[in-house]
Amino acid sequence: MISKPVFFSENVESIKLKQLKKYKAVLIDVDNTLTKHHERKLTKEKKYWIESLVNSGKKVALASNTSKKRAKILSEKFGMDVFVAYKPFPLAIKKWIKKNGYKKSEVVMIGDQIFTDHLAAIFANIDSVLVKPITNKDFIVTRLISRRLEKIIYNLWSK
Ligand SMILES: [Mg+2]
Repeated sequence: MISKPVFFSENVESIKLKQLKKYKAVLIDVDNTLTKHHERKLTKEKKYWIESLVNSGKKVALASNTSKKRAKILSEKFGMDVFVAYKPFPLAIKKWIKKNGYKKSEVVMIGDQIFTDHLAAIFANIDSVLVKPITNKDFIVTRLISRRLEKIIYNLWSK
């Protein structure tokens, strides 16, 4: 059985800084966690949340699987780091943690998908937080396979 994330949240902006106080670095998924697919703009709420996270002194990085260019535009605007994460494989995440000199216990991954974000966090041995996807418009494979399996896992977790 897949272990649970440290907590669940309705969306990123509902995550309070004090819930992340044990972490020095926060890795954030982009698609359906921060923006809809192909979108470059953040909502006011998400902008404010990112700003307060960055201003709190934590290292914040976008760990996206897709479109580095789009993630880069976002990351530059808000003073975040960015890298292509190849989730659920943990290698890029592990490399980033090592390069930046953190302990695994000091890093948390925030994302919307069990089979990419959450699994990558498990494999990289870091904590994870799951948020609800912004929309149910996903890539076709995600929609047909991952989201169905996610339902099963969420049901098991809720028991
Ligand atoms: Mg996502």
